Amino acid sequence: MTVDRDPLSHGLWAASAPPAPKTVPLIGDTRADIAIVGAGYTGLSAALHLAEAGASVVVLEAASIGYGGSGRNVGLVNAGLWLPPDEVVRRMGADHGERLIGALGEGPSLVFERIGRHGIACEPVRTGTLHCAVGRGGERDLERRHAQWAARGAPVRLLRGEEACAAIGSDAYGAALLDARAGTIQPLAYARGLAAAAIAAGAVIHEASPVTACAKRGPHMRLATASGTVTAEHVICATNAYTGGLWSEVRTELAGLPYFNLATAPLSEDALGSILPRKQGAWDTRQILSSFRLDAAGRLVVGSVGALRGAAKAAHRNWARRTLARILPQLGAIDFEYEWYGTIGMTTDALPRFHRMGRVLGISGYNGRGIAPGTVFGRALARYLLHGEAPPLPETPFARMPLRRVREQVYEHGAGIAHALGERF
Ligand SMILES: Cc1cc2nc3c(=O)[nH]c(=O)nc-3n(C[C@H](O)[C@H](O)[C@H](O)COP(=O)(O)OP(=O)(O)OC[C@H]3O[C@@H](n4cnc5c(N)ncnc54)[C@H](O)[C@@H]3O)c2cc1C
Repeated sequence: MTVDRDPLSHGLWAASAPPAPKTVPLIGDTRADIAIVGAGYTGLSAALHLAEAGASVVVLEAASIGYGGSGRNVGLVNAGLWLPPDEVVRRMGADHGERLIGALGEGPSLVFERIGRHGIACEPVRTGTLHCAVGRGGERDLERRHAQWAARGAPVRLLRGEEACAAIGSDAYGAALLDARAGTIQPLAYARGLAAAAIAAGAVIHEASPVTACAKRGPHMRLATASGTVTAEHVICATNAYTGGLWSEVRTELAGLPYFNLATAPLSEDALGSILPRKQGAWDTRQILSSFRLDAAGRLVVGSVGALRGAAKAAHRNWARRTLARILPQLGAIDFEYEWYGTIGMTTDALPRFHRMGRVLGISGYNGRGIAPGTVFGRALARYLLHGEAPPLPETPFARMPLRRVREQVYEHGAGIAHALGERF
């Protein structure tokens, strides 16, 4: 099974990723030490670590490998969370906060180590990422982030003036925070590569196998799909923002934030000489943030908040054209060859959640930063099951997000209106 046929689901990434490993839907009854639901970074990273440790693992995926956020994102492999590190500590307390910051600070290293070790062909570039300051408020934000990460020994540098301008290829930003830990990947290709590595280590993956029920069976758990069952000692729920009917409590504590991407044709050699010359992925400090990066073919991928549907679709495209013309005038006339969008799972306090429901465990709610965290948290869930090692997050009860649907409407329509009215980078 390939990714679904909706051209707005995975866009460029479906067109340029190597094929996924071949799998078949679950048919009949099977057993495993651990059953994992969801084949995104979290589920696949857990599967890989468990299988490498000798556990028998079955992964059940409703659609296809990387179908959710893992196959649709921008591909910025960043360290830490969206929240600045001191804010994480303020919200979680020093113990959990510093442990989480430490684990996620190392997150990009784990991603790139996995890519190297398993030879994953996913366009990895580890030259850092650039957080670009909009206005004086943006510069102050980056100064604070820089000071907080530098105090923890992270290799971050605040670029200003000419240096920022040369790194980005634009004079639209006063400063940029360069984080040398970070980089970019082709996100769907990374998910497919993790899946291939997990299968090579002994895991079994079934696509087109939505789990419809999960029940206790004596000392075990039994998962059911339309055509089979898996009986396992433990279950990892890795469905995150793409959770369907099962475990609706995971989805109802998240507000879905839509985010779209548009990709140009490969840029000219001239343009590539000045725009992000070190292939560093970039995003800005605006509340309705925007991102831009290059892929291996030299296409520029520009993204922002919004869903490519209804009347807003044209507004988002026009906004992207106007914005690129303003910040990167050297591009000249451009057309977009690919477009796609997906859903980011936001929590009330911008912190991820660790839940345990008996023998079912899960981590979710990555607030738009899930490549490194999903890889780290997948490993953390595996280590918890293998060695009883506590994940770098406190276990919390489910809490339905207040006014969830209202928030989702505000995110989607607010971004559409802002882009139609000319919200700029
Ligand atoms: C547009 C966009 C841009 C982003 N940009 C970035 C970025 O640049 N950098 C970054 O770090 N993060 C980014 N993120 C966030 C990141 O992509 C996610 O946090 C991450 O992919 C989550 O991985 P996951 O494995 O937890 O969940 P997902 O990848 O969403 O996987 C969940 C899987 O569960 C499956 N599933 C659901 N229900 C069932 C069921 N009942 N049975 C079987 N399977 C089921 C789904 O089909 C899906 O494949 C972005 C997200 C989006 C949407």
